[in-house]
Amino acid sequence: MKRYSVGIIGATGTVGQRFVSLLGHHPWFEPVALFASSRSAGKTYEEAVEGRWAIPSPLPSYAKNMVLLDAADIPSAKGLDFVFCAVNLGKEETKALEEAYARVEIPVVSNNSAHRNTPDVPMVIPEVNPEHLEVIPFQRKRLHTKRGFIAVKSNCSLQSYVPLLHPLKEFGIRSVSVCTYQAISGAGKTFSSMPEILDNVIPYIGGEEEKSEKEPLKIWGTVKGGGIEPATSPIISAQCVRVPVSDGHTAAVSVKFERRPSREEIIRAWKTFEGEPQKLSLPSAPKQFLHYFEEDDRPQPKLERMLENGMAVSAGRLREDPLFDYKFIGFSHNTLRGAAGGAVLLAELLAAKGYFD
Ligand code: NAP
Repeated sequence: MKRYSVGIIGATGTVGQRFVSLLGHHPWFEPVALFASSRSAGKTYEEAVEGRWAIPSPLPSYAKNMVLLDAADIPSAKGLDFVFCAVNLGKEETKALEEAYARVEIPVVSNNSAHRNTPDVPMVIPEVNPEHLEVIPFQRKRLHTKRGFIAVKSNCSLQSYVPLLHPLKEFGIRSVSVCTYQAISGAGKTFSSMPEILDNVIPYIGGEEEKSEKEPLKIWGTVKGGGIEPATSPIISAQCVRVPVSDGHTAAVSVKFERRPSREEIIRAWKTFEGEPQKLSLPSAPKQFLHYFEEDDRPQPKLERMLENGMAVSAGRLREDPLFDYKFIGFSHNTLRGAAGGAVLLAELLAAKGYFD
């Protein structure tokens, strides 16, 4: 496989730091340019993240002396094969920034929500809906590009329940109730920058419930007429709360089926499920995507967050539900599987399928 020269936009942020950390030894992707706001531009990466490096492993030596570029300075990205993007900008500014890169023929693999509802922008969980990449040629036509395009990841909350529901679609999922217990890194925070979360639960995460209910329908949608037509079912009701956990989102899920499976059928569906990343042996793909724990006190963020390098999704406590058919607990790492790791896996899928060539 060819090595690709990669840029990271938003490299100083919570997700950006994960990209910097993950790409240190990547077999296909070489991070050669780091971008942030004009506030950080001109500083070395080490200076810019001083006092806010939030990753448990040390700052990788390759990045320390790289000088940050201003993301608005698009010509400085010349020669990059593609960029990862994770910025905390408003929707319209983010859209404009991502399209500006795509239009100069630099594909964008994005963690931002701005383009998730754009019909010809694929929103992909690589194990779940890799076929949605088929809309890229239609998007290129709209943007008048030959190479440039935008592909996005879904919201981090979804990763703790959508991958677990996906193999159960064969039983016809009628309705889902989910409550997510989300880590503070999902808000770009650490315990020192969010002291109000200690001994507390905050029952509101702006925009999160709408995304948690709506984005799965695009992911389960079909490629039609040059875009993704969202699915019309199942009905999903979500409540999202912020909890005092550093990394890892938990989901309490109840689900009603058209044809009620047995408990064994559900667990078998999880254990035997594999997607394109496993079939293609992509470098960041977990060997076993979905893990089921029989112990009553699992999955736990502290124990499961680094399972398969933070790329696996865990489940436990599958049992009957008096209102729905079954309930269970799901879990995934929000800045790895749910953000930077998921985006790296998506980029690997795009590379393996020739979209960067
Ligand atoms: P963050 O920690 O607040 O970092 C934001 C990054 O954006 C910083 O690198 C910042 O650079 C950069 N930035 C701000 N203004 C900019 C501008 N005008 N031009 C270029 N760069 C600019 O945010 P985050 O938590 O990493 O989230 C980033 C994106 O990922 C958001 O869209 C978020 O919704 C999404 N996301 C986050 C998670 C998660 O778990 N955290 C999960 C999934 C998706 P400076 O340092 O120079 O200000």
